[in-house]
Amino acid sequence: AAAPPLLELRGIKAAYEQVEVLHGVDLAVPAGSVLAVLGPNGAGKTTMLKVASGLHAPSGGDIWLAGRCVTGAAPVDLARLGLCSIPEGRGVFPNLTVSENLWMASYRGVSRSEIEERVFPIFPRLKERRRQAAGTMSGGEQQMLAMARAIATDPAVLLIDELSMGLAPLVVEQLFEIVARIAGTGVTVLLVEQFAQTALGVADLAAVMTGGRITAVGTPQQIASGLHSAYLGGG
Ligand code: ATP
Repeated sequence: AAAPPLLELRGIKAAYEQVEVLHGVDLAVPAGSVLAVLGPNGAGKTTMLKVASGLHAPSGGDIWLAGRCVTGAAPVDLARLGLCSIPEGRGVFPNLTVSENLWMASYRGVSRSEIEERVFPIFPRLKERRRQAAGTMSGGEQQMLAMARAIATDPAVLLIDELSMGLAPLVVEQLFEIVARIAGTGVTVLLVEQFAQTALGVADLAAVMTGGRITAVGTPQQIASGLHSAYLGGG
């Protein structure tokens, strides 16, 4: 039997200025798995993650986290329940050093050294660059920093928006290897991606979002073979 969902979206609707962009999204992320949601530009993937992380209030439906209904909960409350998100565009503080960026995660009462002990073994590159201003690092390194900061909070569920954005394929591959390693420690991951290939390689489950709806869910293999018709619109 499949693991019970750790995060579940039930009938989620969301709108910007009365214009509905999510039309009833149902998605269950089983505990301990990596679920990749693929879909074209504007499908609503980012909006779905904003709703799931409490940044955008849904206009309908419910969100369940670890068996509790958390619809309407603030991001900080969801963070306390173990949900952590890495936004599109990364959200690192460019003028702070790598270490300073990591220390910002210490609000949960974890010490700075504990944070470094937790993340530097996974991200040796960040250790080397700990005194460097984050804004002067490469795009891939900044994405690593955003991931490291998320891991520092010891999350149960990690939401990742468009990990690959603006990065070279080789860098994207390395980042997804890190995702796989993080998932290997038991963290449940919901990620969204416009480009499929590498994401499907680390996913346990995949879904397709088009036009504000989940239009397919399956194994990565099933979704990969259906992508041409379901997502690219080809025949
Ligand atoms: P992308 O891969 O391009 O980021 P996406 O699948 O993440 O796309 P969303 O960013 O969720 O899609 O956008 C879904 C729809 O909502 C789009 O039509 C977009 O124009 C619209 N939208 C997103 N943010 C806003 C906003 N702040 N105000 C108004 N409309 C918005």
